[in-house]
This record gives sequence, C-alpha cells and structure tokens, in this order.
Amino acid sequence: EQQKLKRLKLTKAVTLDGIEVELHANIEVPSDVAKAKAVGASGIGLYRTEFLFMNRREMPDEQEQFAAYRTVAETMKGMPVTIRTLDLGADKQMNPDAARSCTNPALGLRAIRLCLSEPQIFHTQLRAILRASHYGKIKILIPMLSSLFELRQTVTLLERAKESLRAENIPFDEAIKLGGMIEIPAAAINAEAFARELDFLSIGTNDLIQYSLAIDRTDDAVAHLYKPSHPAVLKLIEMTIKAGNKLGKPVSVCGEMAGDLDFTRLLLSMGLRQFSMHPSHVLTIKRQVLQTELQAIIPLTRKIMNAYDIDKIEPLLEKLNQ
Ligand code: PEP
Ligand code: MG
Repeated sequence: EQQKLKRLKLTKAVTLDGIEVELHANIEVPSDVAKAKAVGASGIGLYRTEFLFMNRREMPDEQEQFAAYRTVAETMKGMPVTIRTLDLGADKQMNPDAARSCTNPALGLRAIRLCLSEPQIFHTQLRAILRASHYGKIKILIPMLSSLFELRQTVTLLERAKESLRAENIPFDEAIKLGGMIEIPAAAINAEAFARELDFLSIGTNDLIQYSLAIDRTDDAVAHLYKPSHPAVLKLIEMTIKAGNKLGKPVSVCGEMAGDLDFTRLLLSMGLRQFSMHPSHVLTIKRQVLQTELQAIIPLTRKIMNAYDIDKIEPLLEKLNQ
C-alpha cells in the first residue's frame, strides 16, 4: 500500500476530468523540507516561522532568520515557498508563562496584532524574509488578519523594510507576493476586500473553525464540538474560495482540512485548486484527486452545501467520498 502510494510521487495531481491541483506541504523548521521533497510536494504552502522563536530565551536575530529562510528557499530550488510571518501567541507561546497573563489569549495580542505592536521584531523578520527572497521563490503570508486597517499597516511596514534594504543595496525580489491568512470569520465574510488588496489568500481552517464555532482548539473539554463539517464553517470556506476566484487571486487551504480525505472532493468542488498540508498526507490526497471526476460530483456537493444540518451533511460527505 505504502509502496503504491510512493509511486505517485512524480505524478501530477490532476482530476479525471483534467483539472490540475497544486499540493503543497506545511513545514515548521528548515529540516522539514526533506519530508516535503520526499513526497513530491510542488511547493511549501505554509512555513510556520514561529517555531524558530519558540522554546528559547532570546529572539533569533536577522542573520539567523535569514539563514533559515534562505536554506528553505534554496532547497526548494525555485518552487514556491510561502513564509508566514510570526504567528506567536495563544497556542504558540515563546514563553508558556506569558499565556497566563492575559484572560483570552486566542482573542488577544497574537500573530499580526503582536507584530504590529512590536514593529522592531516585525521589521527584523521582514528584512530577513526579503533578503532570503533573492535566493528562491518566496511569498509572504500574514496570519490572523481581521481588518483592512491591519493589512494597510502591514503593507506600510513591509515597504519600510524594502526601503531599508534598498538604501543598503541589499538585493531582494522586488516582485515578492503578499498574501493573507483567512482564519477569522470576519475576514472570510469580507474576503473580497482582502482578495482585492492582496496577491493571494490562504484559509487557515484550524483557527477558522475555532473562531466561527467559539471552540478553543486546545481545550479537550469542547473537542467533541470542533466540527469541520459544520455548515457555517463550510459556507465561510466556500465564500473565501469564490471571492479569490472571482478576483483572479489564488486561494489555498493550509489548515488540517487540506490534508483530510473527507474534504478533498468537497473543497475541489468549491473551486479550490491549491492545498497545503502536513507532508505525510500529500500522497493520499493526491490519490484522491486522481480518482475524482469533478463534473460527476457537482449534484452531490450542491446538496451538501444546501444542507443546514450537520447530521445530514456527514452521511452525504461519506457518500461523496466513496
Ligand atoms: C490554521 O489556523 O488553520 C493554520 C494553518 O495555522 P495554525 O494551525 O498554525 O494556526
Ligand atoms: Mg492559524
């Protein structure tokens, strides 16, 4: 079985009716790139850079960050590498004690909010990413956007980082693409605005589910209520994909749902053409894409999207995936 899957490594991910799909890998540290390459991922769809900052006392400086990002860019040899800026806070603390000092860490100063309130830390990271962009195909991804105000502040700081490199004659990719994570319901509902101002979108289903259902993703007491197939979650995902497609901006899903076989066909039918997942899922998802005829599943997927009861959706999903 594993042997059979391995043979798909170099096969393109194309549906039976000829729709091409990008299957990218999520990584946490540069050494994960080997796992992504081993399964033939065609890019890194999510590089969670906060892992470079966790479990240590001092922040990594620009040089250390640059070295890590450059290694990933070079090892991927021109394939896209989507570097997410620091997503610290809530479930990803630099110092676990810090979480206890605020009442609601998941709703607090995390991710882009933290970076905008600590512009020096952000500036250092943006410079490191930009410098690495000279050595491969890097894209920048902003986590946890909730408003255009944050996006515009981010763009201003990115311009400032670019300006500082130009002043020092340090090369970087002038055409570097900027994307945003859609993982807050407000951003999904307003996805068209983000699609207009960004080069690409990436849906973080882990947080999108947490925030739309008000289920703490780290709390076992409510884990049974954490439902990716909740109709509201499915609608938010579909809205985001449609907004991106309408404006010609690529959309990917980089949360756990992208690597979950239960949802591959449904996401394809919503118009998703880019999936990013843990490397261990890439080949099984590829096999599912290869065994899917998009035209043939439209009636059933429409039925799923029109159902408003999770008890109706789950058996329909099962049927879809047979
Ligand atoms: C997500 O929220 O779905 C996501 C991909 O980011 P993370 O799991 O790192 O929060
Ligand atoms: Mg997230």
